[in-house]
Amino acid sequence: MPAPKQTKRFAFAISGIVQGVGFRPFVYQLAAKHGLNGWVRNTSAGVEIEAEGIEQALDSFSDELISLSPPQSVIKTFKQTEIPLTGEEGFTIKPSQSLSGRFQLVSPDIATCTQCQNDVSDPRNRRYRYPFTNCTNCGPRFTIIEDIPYDRPLTTMKDFEMCPVCQAEYDNPLDRRFHAQPNACPVCGPRLWLVDKTGKELESADAIAEAAKLLKDGRILAIRGLGGFLLAADATNQLAVNTLRRRKHRPSKPFAVMLPDIAEARKHCFISAEEEKLLISPAAPIVLCKWNRESPICPETAPKQNYLGIMLAYTPLHHLLLKETGKPLIMTSGNLSAEPIAKDNDEALKRLGNIADYFLLHNRPIYSRYDDSVVMYEAGAKRVIRRGRGYAPYPVQTSFTDKEVLALGPQEKNTFCLLKDGYAFVSQHIGDMQNPETLDSFEETLAVYLKLFRLNPQIIASDLHPGYITTALAEARSASLDIPLVKVQHHHAHIASCLAENNCDEEVIGVALDGTGYGLDGHIWGGEFFCGGIKQGFSRQAHLEYLPLPGGEAAIKKPYRTAVSYVYTLLGEEGLNFFKNIEPEELDIIKTQLERKLNSPLTSSAGRLFDAVAALCGICQVANYDSQPAIELETEAGDTEFAQCYPFELDLDKGIYLIRLKGIIQGVLSDLSSGKTAAYISVKFHNTVSQIVLDTCLRLSARSGLTKVALSGGVFQNRRVFRQVIKKLEAEGFEVITHKEIPSNDGCISLGQAVIATSQGGI
Ligand SMILES: [Zn+2]
Ligand SMILES: [Zn+2]
Repeated sequence: MPAPKQTKRFAFAISGIVQGVGFRPFVYQLAAKHGLNGWVRNTSAGVEIEAEGIEQALDSFSDELISLSPPQSVIKTFKQTEIPLTGEEGFTIKPSQSLSGRFQLVSPDIATCTQCQNDVSDPRNRRYRYPFTNCTNCGPRFTIIEDIPYDRPLTTMKDFEMCPVCQAEYDNPLDRRFHAQPNACPVCGPRLWLVDKTGKELESADAIAEAAKLLKDGRILAIRGLGGFLLAADATNQLAVNTLRRRKHRPSKPFAVMLPDIAEARKHCFISAEEEKLLISPAAPIVLCKWNRESPICPETAPKQNYLGIMLAYTPLHHLLLKETGKPLIMTSGNLSAEPIAKDNDEALKRLGNIADYFLLHNRPIYSRYDDSVVMYEAGAKRVIRRGRGYAPYPVQTSFTDKEVLALGPQEKNTFCLLKDGYAFVSQHIGDMQNPETLDSFEETLAVYLKLFRLNPQIIASDLHPGYITTALAEARSASLDIPLVKVQHHHAHIASCLAENNCDEEVIGVALDGTGYGLDGHIWGGEFFCGGIKQGFSRQAHLEYLPLPGGEAAIKKPYRTAVSYVYTLLGEEGLNFFKNIEPEELDIIKTQLERKLNSPLTSSAGRLFDAVAALCGICQVANYDSQPAIELETEAGDTEFAQCYPFELDLDKGIYLIRLKGIIQGVLSDLSSGKTAAYISVKFHNTVSQIVLDTCLRLSARSGLTKVALSGGVFQNRRVFRQVIKKLEAEGFEVITHKEIPSNDGCISLGQAVIATSQGGI
């Protein structure tokens, strides 16, 4: 005999990314399918549901809420409780409710879905060629949200009143655009227009067709997109690319290229299955892929690189523009070197007027600036290099959130980080804090995060560097809010962030190979080995030996100065014979600086060692973007593999291992004088760096018993070093933990500062 059919009522509370992703219509349809009564609504904590019906139907409903949830949703918590029957008839979607102090996760912007792409390319569809087409599965989210719950009046779409047809879609729970907050059409939505650099509108029936024509003619366009302006140029047109470089004051840093689809991408790059997955993912980041030299994309797009940053079109505008142009297009952030990306029309005309010939503008306000994300697939995982569109503001889940903390991050590649309830909200990439525009963007973005996630920091954290703007901001904020400030050494923060991201609360050996960070002894650190943990604290156990940087910053911009310093300091006067290409006067000046210790800070930086070797090999004498010498040195090695290393020594000095570099510099010079190629030296040098890491970890493990190693620092974006270090360490039985969602460069510093601050209990 079948069991009697019993009626019950359940309340569900679901949190995670459950708004702006079609969750309520999904619940509505699921309830209809199982013949249930009740309601669903958004709150500032997530989604609430009450459902009443036959027990078996409720069970299936509950299972399918999880198993069939919409593709862009992420369920973090799911609570189900039985409540008294009410006898309610029908199922409704109730108005959203704001709960005081409660917050929920916010969805990043999502690349245009296939159905919307079809709508835009179908002449019979009312959204044919409409560049702002979207639905609940795609389109802007984070860049237009002003507050939660995620409803149209709290987004920058509030000024666009929907036409009756759009409104009907928006109100129909069975429609793909049900409660799609940015829903719009050519009748009622935002519009696109084309202007010259004086702001005068071009007379043209079709702005996109006209823009495509200009791009094919070699012009540079500023295009307003999701999170700000992008500068576009034909990547196969050498003249256009060089013009863009000159006007943007960016002589050699690689540009990213946008392509319409994966088939087109394959014509320019060798793409692995994992890289393809990243390219076509809803986040649609820039992925660094092996460049096919047969590609018509001109070498000036990414000089001296084996990898090209490519991304697929992620808005209807991009799809239309690329199709019409029929060319791979450079798409680079709309800014001048270190400034933040421009987001408003007037701002763009003012700031980009000397770079772009024409501007493709629109009138949908951008609430938050958002750069394209950059990732690579290496050593078995996705590695984020710049975190922005498609990833932020999605948090890192971590157990180190005892208190609400605000960490302001470092000076360059800045992000900030906020901790709350098991989440670390690491902001999108903000940029280099030296310039006033970035500072404004920083304050703007911080205000959005504090509001969206209902945060009230009890502790502030900053870098230890007395000269960083973020340190000054932290001091001021700590004083005005009367809350404690914790200053965290740069490389401690690097390792702590790697541990936090991996939820590791043990003690480890931390390897921070990096450019520059202010050390506890006032010297510039950057080739550091620590033992310790987030709660236990870290102690420095080994580092590259200190060498002087003649002129400080000047040496970083001119790596040959570092080369002279390392050769002269380690090998003496005789070594200087090598520098025949440097003017004797300049050589004398450098020598004097070194001898008299004039403006020659000491550094243990691994980045500077790469600089010196790149300069000695004649690969890069002057650097005009961060890590250029190291990147070009890595490029030189190509795919060549062999095992030889240069000699180095580990000296124990007052309990700390000093890694002696004389053997390396001597070896490089001797290989050069015996006619070895730069490629050969590069391979041998990379082998040496990974051998240094292995040997040092073996020594530290022998005396501490630690067998887990955490890797962090900008140097680990070097694919060759990263791969080799992991391989060598694992072969010796070490367990290696690495960054995946958060960059290993300074983009991770804020997370490390935050977790150290919360663990220190506040002082
Ligand atoms: Zn869509
Ligand atoms: Zn409409």
